[in-house]
Amino acid sequence: MTTLTFKELGLSDDILTALEKKGFEQPSPIQLETIPMLLANTHDLIGHAQTGTGKTAAFGLPILESLDPTSGPIQALVLTPTRELTIQVSDELHSLKGKKNLTITPVYGGQSIMNQKKQLKKRNDIIVGTPGRLIDHLKSKNLDLSHIKYLVLDEADEMLNSGFIEDIELILSKTNADRRTLLFSATMPKPILSLANRYMGDYKTINIKKETLATTLTEQIYFEVRESDKLEALCRIIDVEAEFYGLIFCRTKRDVDRITEKLIHRGYAAEAMHGDLSQFQRERVLGKFRKKICSILVVTDVASRGLD
Ligand code: AMP
Repeated sequence: MTTLTFKELGLSDDILTALEKKGFEQPSPIQLETIPMLLANTHDLIGHAQTGTGKTAAFGLPILESLDPTSGPIQALVLTPTRELTIQVSDELHSLKGKKNLTITPVYGGQSIMNQKKQLKKRNDIIVGTPGRLIDHLKSKNLDLSHIKYLVLDEADEMLNSGFIEDIELILSKTNADRRTLLFSATMPKPILSLANRYMGDYKTINIKKETLATTLTEQIYFEVRESDKLEALCRIIDVEAEFYGLIFCRTKRDVDRITEKLIHRGYAAEAMHGDLSQFQRERVLGKFRKKICSILVVTDVASRGLD
């Protein structure tokens, strides 16, 4: 199947170089639909899409392309439901901007508010953040969102589930009405559509089906084993890899703790991560995993949200 290239979607050389460096060869389906639309006209957008579809680059590339590196005020705001996703989105945007002189600043709870305040005094082009901490800064007048060109609501359904809808409305009320609003959500429950109808202009909807996730580079294998043989099978899989480095998903926190304990007992460098860990503990564990001090991270899918 022939598909358009990133260049044919209208991206400039700087960004194309960054994409090459990242190893993105072809646009994913959501990128094929979103990038030309965002570059060409001024509609708002609802993207019905999950994590893994390449949605960050789908909204990020056209935003990075169209922002002005000499502008003063904050030009774009990306709201995400979790600190991890904030960091992930901000890192992804940073790696996609290439040499373009744009500052992307993550703002989330659990970090020193004073340091954030200092950073917010400088020039920031794109702010990526969680609603709670952004409201703190809005209330203390550290943050001026009255000149933004883009507002992105990422994983809107997760923000709804975390009880952030009122916070989002408050943040929206502090932004200029002529901003362009992009909303991404894996599901489209009524409160999300109602939010869109109240706060978004004339919008287009893009639906990306689950089958078209950007995982064609991932080989998927399953093994049928008896419940009682599962741990043994897992250890074999880890052992056959020359250097196993990966995530193990469990359904419950109890399973996470149980499996981690058993793996550690057998001498594997495993760590557990689930919702019971404090932010500090999560960052510590993630840091160890990133530095490969631990090579096996056992997680619940909730705790892993936003992990890249
Ligand atoms: P996202 O859905 O934005 O969380 O992206 C999921 C993963 O796919 C991230 O690791 C991206 O860096 C990666 N990705 C996004 N677009 C592409 C692409 N066109 N080619 C290869 N990888 C991609």
